[in-house]
Amino acid sequence: MDRPALPPDLRRALEASVGSDHVVVDPDLLVAHERDWTGRFGGATPALVRPADTAQVAAVLAACTRAGVAVVPQGGNTGLVGGSVPRRGEVVVHLGRLQRLDVDAHAGRVVAGAGVTVARVQEAAAAAGWSYGVDLASRDSATVGGTVATNAGGIHVLRHGPTRSQVLGVEAVLADGRVVSHLGGLVKDNTGYDLAGLVCGSEGTLAVVTAACLRLVPALPVRTVALAGFADAPRAIRAAGRWRRAVSDLVAEELFFDDGLSLVCEQFGLPRPLRATHDAYVLVEAAAADDPTERLAEAVGADPEVGEVAVATDAGGAERLWRYREAHTEAINALGPPHKLDVTLPESALPAFVREVRDAVAHLAPDARTWLFGHVGDGNVHVNVTGLAPEDDRVDGAVLELVAAHGGSISAEHGIGVAKLDWLHLNRSPEELAVFRAVKGALDPDGTLNPGVLVPPG
Ligand SMILES: Cc1cc2nc3c(=O)[nH]c(=O)nc-3n(C[C@H](O)[C@H](O)[C@H](O)COP(=O)(O)OP(=O)(O)OC[C@H]3O[C@@H](n4cnc5c(N)ncnc54)[C@H](O)[C@@H]3O)c2cc1C
Repeated sequence: MDRPALPPDLRRALEASVGSDHVVVDPDLLVAHERDWTGRFGGATPALVRPADTAQVAAVLAACTRAGVAVVPQGGNTGLVGGSVPRRGEVVVHLGRLQRLDVDAHAGRVVAGAGVTVARVQEAAAAAGWSYGVDLASRDSATVGGTVATNAGGIHVLRHGPTRSQVLGVEAVLADGRVVSHLGGLVKDNTGYDLAGLVCGSEGTLAVVTAACLRLVPALPVRTVALAGFADAPRAIRAAGRWRRAVSDLVAEELFFDDGLSLVCEQFGLPRPLRATHDAYVLVEAAAADDPTERLAEAVGADPEVGEVAVATDAGGAERLWRYREAHTEAINALGPPHKLDVTLPESALPAFVREVRDAVAHLAPDARTWLFGHVGDGNVHVNVTGLAPEDDRVDGAVLELVAAHGGSISAEHGIGVAKLDWLHLNRSPEELAVFRAVKGALDPDGTLNPGVLVPPG
């Protein structure tokens, strides 16, 4: 796609709002913001604008709306559904300079600017004797604004819920520049429409988040991680269900398979974690104020379906075991842009889905490879398919239809973006989609914010 020109009047207005240093038009500097993390989605932008505060975000949005130029809000650009990059010549509004970070150690909450990374929120929480309930492998780049906008999940949803469960309030800017702010942080605050809940998961289509008030959770300083190997997926999934019921200290429960583990070991030069090779693996983490090892060992060690297990009770050992799971995303990406289909299944349907999805892909694309891993504690499987052309979405359709047929969700945690827009009707009724369009029309009547993302055309 050719790079669109920035209208001169708009350029002057943007430079007046944020300063000319922060209206970037140099193509060499724009490229990193024009393609998504997977490499599958992208386009060209006339400019990247970097406001420093809420007032500047408001001025930028008002100017773009007046000029009839659409915008894409962007945080860490780690989103996996193509919603964070320009596809049709939109201006990129980058929130990286919004770095406010105020911890209230007494109340257990933090007000964080949109550009603060999840890792920084976690560090600030820990320094105040608390913990932040959201954690994900992209923690060093993913931002508060992006994780609120996508309602990011991650590895601790099992214990603390997704990002929406942490949000006590947001400050956000509407397309016309009006600011809606509710950062008081009261846990009980039953005063009408939950605007923060609405913005959370709206993927930059309703408003640009400039700050969020996030609850913190008690720190659980003693951690134990176990990695168990199983003869097959049904055994692994059954055991994961048993452990969720038996171990109250569980904070994470992840599933992966031997092909993914072998790829990670090859690509990162890691030794295999267990002596034997197993078809399926479950990684579990328990965390508590006291040592949870015995309670975890009682469940995992005594489980008759476990083939072999490795346990880590020290931080280094725990990180080493986690690496086998967390490196999957990066290892698969290195094979070329994957089709990433992040889905949830009811627990009872997971074993059948895991079997059927590989067959469904092989039937349509015999040369493609299917990689499965995910947050099994939430019924969440990441179906990644490599070896397909980026625009060939036959497999996407087949997989998402299979998910819907099993009563699952076509998006567990990554959102809809552009990647899944054509299949949103599998989970959302025509009436629900009409409400989506009505809400979008009320908050962004000119369609400035992230057009083509999340909200299907009427
Ligand atoms: C290695 C890896 C592991 C990951 N693991 C997980 C995981 O376990 N769970 C999970 O849920 N996700 C995961 N992700 C996906 C990604 O990290 C999340 O979607 C994250 O929330 C994106 O944050 P970001 O700041 O990078 O947002 P971006 O990618 O920049 O943007 C994502 C979306 O939010 C919008 N947006 C960004 N900032 C704002 C703002 N301030 N206001 C309004 N809209 C905004 C964008 O327009 C876009 O639609 C992973 C990604 C990678 C690369």
